Amino acid sequence: MQTNVNSMTFESLQLHPSILDALKQKGYTAPTPVQEQTIPSVIHGRDVLSLAQTGTGKTAAFALPILHRLANSASAQGIRVLVLAPTRELAIQIHDNFSAYGKSLPFKLALIYGGVGQQSQEQALRRHPSILIATPGRLLDLYDQGHVRLNGVQTLVLDECDRMLDMGFARDLNKILALLPKERQTLLFSATMPDDIRAMAEKHMSDPVRIQIITDEKNLPKIRQRMYWVNRDKRQALLFDVLEKEPADQALVFTRTKRGADRLARVLSKEGHPAQSIHGDKSQSQREKALKDFKSGRLKILVATDLASRGIDVKELDLVINYDMPADAETYVHRIGRTGRAGREGVSVTFRGFDDADVEKDLIRKYGSELDIYRTHQFLPDGVLVPPDPAAIEKYKEAAKAARVKRKEAIAAGANPAGFRRR
Ligand code: AMP
Repeated sequence: MQTNVNSMTFESLQLHPSILDALKQKGYTAPTPVQEQTIPSVIHGRDVLSLAQTGTGKTAAFALPILHRLANSASAQGIRVLVLAPTRELAIQIHDNFSAYGKSLPFKLALIYGGVGQQSQEQALRRHPSILIATPGRLLDLYDQGHVRLNGVQTLVLDECDRMLDMGFARDLNKILALLPKERQTLLFSATMPDDIRAMAEKHMSDPVRIQIITDEKNLPKIRQRMYWVNRDKRQALLFDVLEKEPADQALVFTRTKRGADRLARVLSKEGHPAQSIHGDKSQSQREKALKDFKSGRLKILVATDLASRGIDVKELDLVINYDMPADAETYVHRIGRTGRAGREGVSVTFRGFDDADVEKDLIRKYGSELDIYRTHQFLPDGVLVPPDPAAIEKYKEAAKAARVKRKEAIAAGANPAGFRRR
């Protein structure tokens, strides 16, 4: 991430003194470009439509002016700020940001997300929070049960809006939007701007200030990107080689499937690289523990699926490995955005197999010479990729089918296996 050292300061944005103190304590010296552009508009009450990725400092870009406005306005009862986020990890992250920046301000926060019991969340809602951070599904559950009132919301934030739509929250979002006062401020953040988001902004926002950070290459974190062509049977060997040669303290490894993540974490741990996996089938406490261990540096390797990775905000993460090729260029951008943060240089390593030609082509188009592609190396001396063994694929499909049947039977018998949770 880049900060604008040569121009604006947080002081010149005239933020509330206690927020400035909190920023000093966090060690932030200057606003990032998205903060510089967003904060004045939010303070002036404008709607903001911001094309900004994770890693640009976007959370503070909305949290700081929101806290500032609350601190400078007459006190009112009820929830005044609603922040919606796609995943619990991101919701927790946003909550932690608000609580750090606003620690000397008198506002209460509440955080609600699915996958855990709702009792403590009901209690938090009874304590009259001014700011509510929520995932859409659980918010609606609690609303339907009469635990939340949304008619006093003055500011709505839709964070990582494209991801919320990708995850199938469009209906929930529309329902929530219908419950909010028409007169309000709306701030929409998204890493991409597909047509459905444009339409949503058109319908639900009023003359928004448009802020575009993503296209300015200078603002993107510095990431050295490498791609290795490799056949499936040599991926593990290549992975160990990368882990040994790369001078990284910690690595985030992406797999396509939950089972793949579990399997890889087991193999890594067995081979002397302590690793844990994180994905949607893990219980909330398992996920939180893995994340906490990773953030504190105790855990060296986290193996994650794409959904679980949202909201993983680890400072100074040096290495991201795409063990499985991401499904598309956008997912790639999100994945590698986990490294090279806060001005540090990061490294991303992507394994490219026989079936990954299309995504590779898109990445070459997007990054050009910034992406170093190794077509021959120690683990692929002849540079020839071969299709995955069809027999192995069949076997895998059968095992997956058997697991699905078993799960259905368990549910029919009244069990509630992990993974059947609402967000
Ligand atoms: P975000 O894009 O909101 O996920 O933020 C990325 C990371 O940058 C987080 O770890 C923030 O704590 C950090 N950060 C946000 N704003 C600043 C700033 N102005 N200076 C330094 N670090 C920052």
